[in-house]
Amino acid sequence: MLKIENLHAEIDGQEILRGLDLEIGQGEIHAIMGPNGSGKSTLSNVLMGHPRYEVTDGAVTFFGQDIFELEADERAKLGMFLAFQYPSEVPGVSVANFLRTAVNSVREKELSPMEMYKLIQEKMRFLQMDPKFAERYLNEGFSGGEKKRNEILQMLMLDPKLAIMDETDSGLDIDALQVVSKGVNALRGPEFSALIITHYNRILRYIEPDHVHVMLDGRIVTSGQKELALQLEEKGYDWVRQEFGSAA
Ligand code: ADP
Ligand code: MG
Ligand code: MG
Repeated sequence: MLKIENLHAEIDGQEILRGLDLEIGQGEIHAIMGPNGSGKSTLSNVLMGHPRYEVTDGAVTFFGQDIFELEADERAKLGMFLAFQYPSEVPGVSVANFLRTAVNSVREKELSPMEMYKLIQEKMRFLQMDPKFAERYLNEGFSGGEKKRNEILQMLMLDPKLAIMDETDSGLDIDALQVVSKGVNALRGPEFSALIITHYNRILRYIEPDHVHVMLDGRIVTSGQKELALQLEEKGYDWVRQEFGSAA
């Protein structure tokens, strides 16, 4: 469903992605792990269409469509969810209002206000969120944990075919990890795939990946199953550099 071929991308004239290949099939959970600076966040930024990054070679297709030809909302309509695609702070727009707009924009047929209300309440209950949270302004004064919950709430509401999440290296506490894994595990099934990008394998104790890839210097240098994540924990990224660093 997602196919990345020979992807090259740069920022400010500096090449970061150097021929990255990756294929994700339907129903598969993939993890990309890699040392700091290997280009993980660059990959997620490129997939979300961040304007600072320039794609200089290669192709990315989602259900056969070139994603670089699609606007962010068109990618969402096709079922692609990028955890941080949405605005960080929207003054005057409540969480509930934002969710209504986002959900209706990816659906063929809009939900009635009552259906929408029920759905929001149901998902919030599942994530053990206070119902009052829905009336707060989006991201305004949210704590790290609240931002994460809100992001996962968006994901559950949108019910995507593919979720891409960059679990940025710092600061995901156990509580946030559990929220993320609860969300992903709830959607898990033949119609849902995920790409989890992470420095640490902590999250992979909660979400069992089908495939694990290691990224180094802007490409995937080796792939395996969940055992690879354990091996990385044991041997560290120095082992990866020694084993695969010469490929650069
Ligand atoms: P990761 O998420 O794996 O830690 P990043 O994608 O954030 O890696 O960064 C990859 C590389 O891109 C790093 O070496 C970083 O120094 C470099 N980089 C990031 N922004 C810029 C920039 N504006 N100009 C040049 N290099 C950059
Ligand atoms: Mg980094
Ligand atoms: Mg990063």
